[in-house]
Amino acid sequence: MIGHANEVPRDSTLEADACIVGAGAAGIPLALTLAQQGLRVLLLEAGERTRDPAAQQAYAGEVADARMHSPPDRYRVRGLGGSTALWGGRCMPYDPIDFEARDWVPGSGWPISYEGLLPYYARANAWAEAGACAYDARTALPGAPPLIQGFDSAVVGTHSLERFSCPTDFGRRYRERLAVAPGLRVLQGAHVTAVRLRPDGSGVRQLEVRTATGNRFAVRARAHVLAQGGLETPRLLLASNDVQPAGVGNAHDVVGRYYQCHLAANIGELEVFGPVDRVRHGYEVSPEGVYCRRRLQVDAAEQRRQRLLNTVARLHFPHITDPAHGIGVLSGLVLAQGFVGYEYGKRLRDQRLTPALAARHLWNVLRDPVDTARFLAHWVGRRTLADRKFPSVILHNRRNRFSLEVQAEQQPLRSSRVTLGGTHDAFGLPRLRVDWRCSQADIASVGRTLELMAGELERTGTGRLRWDRERLGEELLRYGAYGGHHIGTARMGSDPRTSVVDADCKVHGVDGLYVAGSAVFPTSSQANPTLTVVALALRLADRLATRLQPRRAPAQEVVA
Ligand SMILES: Cc1cc2nc3c(=O)[nH]c(=O)nc-3n(C[C@H](O)[C@H](O)[C@H](O)COP(=O)(O)OP(=O)(O)OC[C@H]3O[C@@H](n4cnc5c(N)ncnc54)[C@H](O)[C@@H]3O)c2cc1C
Repeated sequence: MIGHANEVPRDSTLEADACIVGAGAAGIPLALTLAQQGLRVLLLEAGERTRDPAAQQAYAGEVADARMHSPPDRYRVRGLGGSTALWGGRCMPYDPIDFEARDWVPGSGWPISYEGLLPYYARANAWAEAGACAYDARTALPGAPPLIQGFDSAVVGTHSLERFSCPTDFGRRYRERLAVAPGLRVLQGAHVTAVRLRPDGSGVRQLEVRTATGNRFAVRARAHVLAQGGLETPRLLLASNDVQPAGVGNAHDVVGRYYQCHLAANIGELEVFGPVDRVRHGYEVSPEGVYCRRRLQVDAAEQRRQRLLNTVARLHFPHITDPAHGIGVLSGLVLAQGFVGYEYGKRLRDQRLTPALAARHLWNVLRDPVDTARFLAHWVGRRTLADRKFPSVILHNRRNRFSLEVQAEQQPLRSSRVTLGGTHDAFGLPRLRVDWRCSQADIASVGRTLELMAGELERTGTGRLRWDRERLGEELLRYGAYGGHHIGTARMGSDPRTSVVDADCKVHGVDGLYVAGSAVFPTSSQANPTLTVVALALRLADRLATRLQPRRAPAQEVVA
């Protein structure tokens, strides 16, 4: 059943077996899986029935350095489905090495194993509609040619794949199932404003909920799961400070710290030698019809030997705002930047479009009319009108010249953190202040990774990679933190002094309080987070289903 929080009697208390806060990529699969087990589940979603600017405003906050991080109300959506209303759908699991304690990555090491998460990745793939859980091109794309013919390296692989979801908007796709699932009650417009603990702090007493029109009520459950996303979860924990003055689960000042995103940039120029058909550029389609893409990646043994952070690189087009590329399609995108939303248009707007610059871009479009028209037809047919959307702009490879689109892990830093700011939102909750940082070690690791890739291209005689070593840091930070990946702010670990939740995602020392989402990831990997978010949510669902005794009555109201 899907209802609205305004329908709940004021000052009443709702009871459920499990109460989940946030209906995004984590909350929806978790709620449906628990309900399927016969549990009474309450799913509280702050977003209204339609996209609502006032609800979204609750995400607004401050950033310490506007060049380093987008405003917190960008790259997040408050609504059923959460940020999957906006995501790009790029899916891949974390790599086994990501779970290891690596002595060159302080704070690395997950208390759970890759193998333990593997069965949940298979199920997560289904939820994300990304096809089979097959991320090696040699098995997933039988018979397909390599990324670069003749590039045969023992240390730099080209077989690792990313697979693309539709991209599935979890709110739209699963709305019907949420509406009919027995034992599940979804409340929209339900802003959870506090986690109230028992006086001794040992467990959750209740959650407090408010609506935009002033209704308020409480929720008591046997398990409360914060699935609000990697920025909002620490915000609520820190703001709930009546019993534990530093915030819930924050006795050791870990909540909000170790905030990680990814470093991402287009770097240098890669020239592949020989004819254009030596390169497999762009997307391939798996047997079940899912778009897949290969990447260059240093293999785990070499990462260990060279003490590298995990990084991938995709073949990409040249720097888009520089008209010197002479490519009509890219120039057309720069000229059409006003029609592209903030999150996807950031790279189009990194340079002011002066009349002189616009004229050069226009010239590129005019002298490349056939390709531009072909691109538009392809985009409308395969992206705008398609259910499974072509994932991104890919240009026809005419010259075997690319840049490398790098996506890199960053070290978890205590100093990189989110805290509470000085102002409050309309529900009385302190707004977030984001101070994202990265280290020289992160940049140096990308540099060494590129050296390794360049060396292997040269050794195999397949290509040449050139980039400006002096400007690598500047390029990697040109757009600041990669948007939308909010990692590590309530990290998982076995030691309460250095982590917030345990291996079961339960907040240390607080009975009945769990976290689902990328906040619990101790490290950031090269991988986009959502598949792991879903996998961990399904794993948590299994654990909660075992722990909570199924009761078959629907979620009920108890007037306090
Ligand atoms: C532009 C963009 C592109 C992206 N591309 C990719 C990609 O290609 N691949 C990938 O893996 N990831 C991508 N992501 C990230 C992906 O969207 C997130 O990892 C994913 O949505 C996280 O799921 P979640 O459920 O943890 O959080 P969310 O999806 O953010 O959902 C959290 C939910 O909690 C609700 N909520 C928050 N606070 C409260 C409260 N106090 N009370 C009640 N409800 C609350 C919110 O309204 C929201 O619905 C992208 C993100 C963006 C913005």
